[in-house]
Order: sequence, then C-alpha cells, then structure tokens
Amino acid sequence: MKVHVAVLPSPGMGHIIPFLELAKQLVVRHGIHVSLLNITTEASAAQNQLLHSPTLPPNLKVIDLPPADISALVTEDAGIVTRLCIIVQESLKPLKSVLIELGKPQALIIDLFCTQAFEICNELSIPTYTLFTCSTAFLAFTLYLPTLDREVECEYVDLPEPVQVPGCTPIRIEDLLDQVRNRKIDEYKWVLFHFNRTPLATGIFLNSWEDFEPASLKAIREHPFYKQIATPPVHPVGPLIKEDEPLTELGAKCVAWLDKQPLDSVLFVSLGSGGTLTNAQLTELAWGLELSQQRFILVVRKPTDGSASGSFFNVDGDVNDPKAYLPEGFIERTKGVGLVVPSWAPQVAVLRHPSTGAFLSHCGWNSTLESITYGVPMIAWPLYAEQRMNAAMLVEEVGVAVKPMVGEGKGVVEREEIERMVRMVMEGEEGKAIRGRAKEQEHSASQGLNFGGSSYESLFRVVKEWTTSDQI
Ligand code: UDP
Repeated sequence: MKVHVAVLPSPGMGHIIPFLELAKQLVVRHGIHVSLLNITTEASAAQNQLLHSPTLPPNLKVIDLPPADISALVTEDAGIVTRLCIIVQESLKPLKSVLIELGKPQALIIDLFCTQAFEICNELSIPTYTLFTCSTAFLAFTLYLPTLDREVECEYVDLPEPVQVPGCTPIRIEDLLDQVRNRKIDEYKWVLFHFNRTPLATGIFLNSWEDFEPASLKAIREHPFYKQIATPPVHPVGPLIKEDEPLTELGAKCVAWLDKQPLDSVLFVSLGSGGTLTNAQLTELAWGLELSQQRFILVVRKPTDGSASGSFFNVDGDVNDPKAYLPEGFIERTKGVGLVVPSWAPQVAVLRHPSTGAFLSHCGWNSTLESITYGVPMIAWPLYAEQRMNAAMLVEEVGVAVKPMVGEGKGVVEREEIERMVRMVMEGEEGKAIRGRAKEQEHSASQGLNFGGSSYESLFRVVKEWTTSDQI
C-alpha cells in the first residue's frame, strides 16, 4: 500500500506555494500519495488557479475544508495575523473527522499557524511535522520568543540592544517582526501562542538548504538553548519554489516582452502577493524608475495609505487600472523601456528569464528563494512581517542585495535614491559584485535539490521513516 501524507498550509500564496511544491516532490520523486487540505478563504484568482491547476500530479488531491464563518469573531480592525489565525482555528474544527475519513494518513505536515492540529493528531496517533515557510534564522527567533517573553518585561522596541537569539546574528530592534512590536495587541498573542507550540512537532522541514544559512542551522542543531526547549529535528528540504505554471494571457505578454530585451537588462519590480505602497511612495518609485532610464517590469497594485499587506486576502486586488494612480504620463513616457503589469506577474518565469537582470523585492521568503535560485541580485524593499530580517540577511550576510535609504524625516524612499540604487545594481561595479554572489548561490541551491543533493536526501530520510513505519 502506498504511503499517504496530508499537508495543511495556512491561506495566502506565501504559504500555499511551498506546501504545494513539497507535496509535488513527495508525489513525483518519492511515490507518496498526498492530500492537500485547503483552508478556503476569499482567495485571490491566482491562488485558486494554482490549487486547481490541471498540471497537478494525479496522486496529489486538493481537499477544500468547509469555509469557516468568522464574521462574529473578528472586528473590522483586526490585524492580518489575527484574522488568519481565527480563520485557521475555525477551519480546523472538522479536522479530526477529515483525517479519519481520509483513512488516517501516516503523517500530517502543518504550517506554523496551524498548531491546533497537534492535539487532534495526537488523539489519532498521527505524527505531525511543520513545514516552516520562512528562513532558518526566523525559525530560531520563533523558538526563542517564548523565552524572551518570560525574561523581558518592557516592550521589545524599547530594548537598548539588538535581540540576541541564541547562536544567531542579533536582530536590530527596527528589523523585528511587526507582530512583536507591541506586546499588548492580539497579533502578538496569536504569534506567541503558535511560536510557543513549535517544538511540539515531530520534525521541522525547512524551506532552506544546508549551505544557505549555515550559522542558524548549526545553532538550532547544536546550541544548548534549542536542546533545552526540546527542539525537534530540522530537515532542510528547500528551496521549494514554484515551478513554471501555465501562463495567463497577461503572463505570456510579460514573457514575450522580455524575449525582446537584451541579456540581464531588465529590473523586475514586485512586492509579493499582498504588498502595497502608499500613494506618495508609489509616485517616488515610478519617478525613480523613469529617471534611471533602465528597462523594467513594474507590477503594481492600487496604493493604500494603511497597512502594506492590506490586500492580502483581497479578491478584487486582481484587476485594477494602473493609470489611475501612477504619475500622469508615466506609462506613455516609459513605453518601450518599461512594462506596467497590474497586480500579478508570472514571477518565476520572469526571474528565470535571461533578460531579467535584477529584482526589486519586498523580500518575502518565497521571493527571496526564487531570486536566489535564478541567480538574480536584489534591491531589498521590505514591507511587513519578517521581511526586514530577510533583507538584513541578504544585504549584510549573503551579499546579494542592496537596500535603499528612507529620506530623513520624509518617511519615503525618494526618487533620486531609487534612481541611484537601480543604476548601481543594473550597471555599477557593486551591481557586478552582488550579481556574482547571486550566481554562486544559484549554484549552491540547485546542488541541494538534485538527486543525491542535501535537500533531496533530507526529505528522502523522512520518507524512509514513514515507509518503514507503514510496514511495521
Ligand atoms: N508572486 C507571483 N506574482 C506576483 C507576486 C507574487 O507569482 O506578481 C508569487 C511569488 O513568485 C512568490 C509568492 O507569490 O512565490 C509570494 O510569496 P512571498 O513569500 O515572496 O511573499 P508574500 O506574498 O507571502 O508576502
């Protein structure tokens, strides 16, 4: 009988993409049956397209969990993590019966925000793993936060020194995760609740690889702190990034446009599945691009003056008219040099295209891995969640990115600074250096995934455990 495993991502592209890729690898490379339990939301068109793609392998089944009604449980002003955690909590109420109906899979692999599944799986004697969809450095922070919470009384933002996560690079206060910047709010309570339960997993799959974050990985495996809190074994199995997907009409247009551009000449500008800028910042960005006179693809969303991740669950984020909010005449003036794409571009197809020379990115973990996988240097433009930590690592440790400075007292990165950064990355000496380092990382990422590579072997070892336990 074939081994059957279920996987449970949280909603949102940044979570679904790596889960889907792990599921595909389990099916295609290791011959396992996988059920992907989909927490249904008012998902974006892109999310639906991904989960119901005709190209999914036959032994990977997507099962929609019944939609949860959370209207009575969240207030209008609830933060994104609170909303997400309540959706998950309510959606997991039928999990026990779903798992029984599926004939009790050999294992369940959950997302960081789905830890209610631990107790349910315990009752059913199903081992539960986590697929951690952020960096290894952030896993170390996740494991350390409950201790920090016990030891520190003040707000973390008032600490005089960077946060020293055991064995890892200290985190500057300004780079701390948004949700821990105010300990009194629900966002913090939810994060702490789930982070505190992370060690309950049987094992933690990492969307990273042995050579990419060696210091954080070594710390989690060897530092006494992580042993003391009973951290389960970690298995780096990444980079799990989206493979080529069928192109939409708009996506095909992007690629056709890139086909006509010279090698390494285009800057790709995209801020993830939910990132939005303020009106003022978007205006500066557009002007900066225009002044730089470099080729670009700009993926834009309607600006918001509220939260940068405000459009995360938004359905109508998929259609908009950029002319309504880009500087007047911008599209006409940059015609031939730039391509403006509303809301969504086929990011992986763009990053792997030989004409793409750099990526201005919000540094979400998936975008980071995609850029590294295709050896594309970055301009780091972190917006929310743990992206400032990722940006710091890319700029200061891995050396594959540069980061623009916010104008003093202005609250925005100004057009001259954007122009300078774009020129530096596309044509300057520093650009050459970071491109060289990005190419080295590209090599290291692909080595890990190859048959016999460290990530392949890491996953294979766990699969073997499941297969053996099935035969007992
Ligand atoms: N993405 C895409 N096209 C877009 C924007 C995003 O294909 O126009 C994909 C991107 O390739 C990545 C994911 O959406 O796989 C975004 O995940 P990430 O972790 O980078 O950021 P998040 O959206 O979770 O903030």
